[in-house]
Amino acid sequence: MDSFKSQVAKLRAQGHKNKAIAEKLGVSFSRVMEAISQLVGEGKVKSRWPKARWTEKGSADFKRVVKLLQSGANLAEIGEVFGVSRERARQIREKIRKRYGDEIVRPRKQPYVTLREAARELNTEPGPLQKLLQKNGLLTKSPRGMWVVQRSDLKRKQVTQHPHVTQEQVCKYCGKKFRLKHRAQKVCSAQCSEARRMESRLRCFQSEPSEDNLAGWHKELWVRLQRHRPPAQEEWLTLTRASARCGLTPIQVNWLRLRKVLNCQPSETQFWRGQQVQLYRASEIEIIRQCREAMLRSKSR
Ligand SMILES: [Zn+2]
Repeated sequence: MDSFKSQVAKLRAQGHKNKAIAEKLGVSFSRVMEAISQLVGEGKVKSRWPKARWTEKGSADFKRVVKLLQSGANLAEIGEVFGVSRERARQIREKIRKRYGDEIVRPRKQPYVTLREAARELNTEPGPLQKLLQKNGLLTKSPRGMWVVQRSDLKRKQVTQHPHVTQEQVCKYCGKKFRLKHRAQKVCSAQCSEARRMESRLRCFQSEPSEDNLAGWHKELWVRLQRHRPPAQEEWLTLTRASARCGLTPIQVNWLRLRKVLNCQPSETQFWRGQQVQLYRASEIEIIRQCREAMLRSKSR
């Protein structure tokens, strides 16, 4: 027996695995396996799988290897399970294929899991996960009408690395990482949400209105109000009456004032909660009514 084979036999006797032996001796795994198969042939080493009956339908090894092949395991993985090389695993597969045909070794579709189970498995919420899977076309409806997903699809990169699953969303306001609770969440907390809203509101009211920063029919309204020259004898309206006349809600009319689209005046005689009531120009309110009606007409058409 040459020294390499005896070394392998010794390590095998000590109970080392084939891979560990290859690492210890600093040789390739296949070379160790070759030596072992020779040693088994010479009867000097006992095979770990002495009664491996790969091609006999009743045997446990056959059932196990077929199950692995059908579950889509690759040859290296199968080799690992049985402690054999990748090449040996391929040979076993070919043996089974020759005897029983292609169908038996073909990877089967993976079992399906429900959306709720998938969410639990990925430690995420079902709602966002459903959208994510739908977007990637991985979601199917089972005959019982439930949303199901192939278990193997849950390991896909576009699923596992999506923020819905990793739950490492960055807050748009404070920049902290947070756990996503629903799909459209952009900020981490109610406080951040409120602060962000107030900030954008402030930014909006501070900027002078122009055709660029007004949207929709407000643009048209703005252009017309710019051309408008108020009459000498102006009728002044309170918010309630202005709102009733133009058809917008008081909040909408008030917004136009805060946005500086409308030119208002504080009343000198009317007060509300200690503050002067703002009065609206009737001629401007009339323009709002006309613009709004034109907008509604164009929408219904
Ligand atoms: Zn935040």
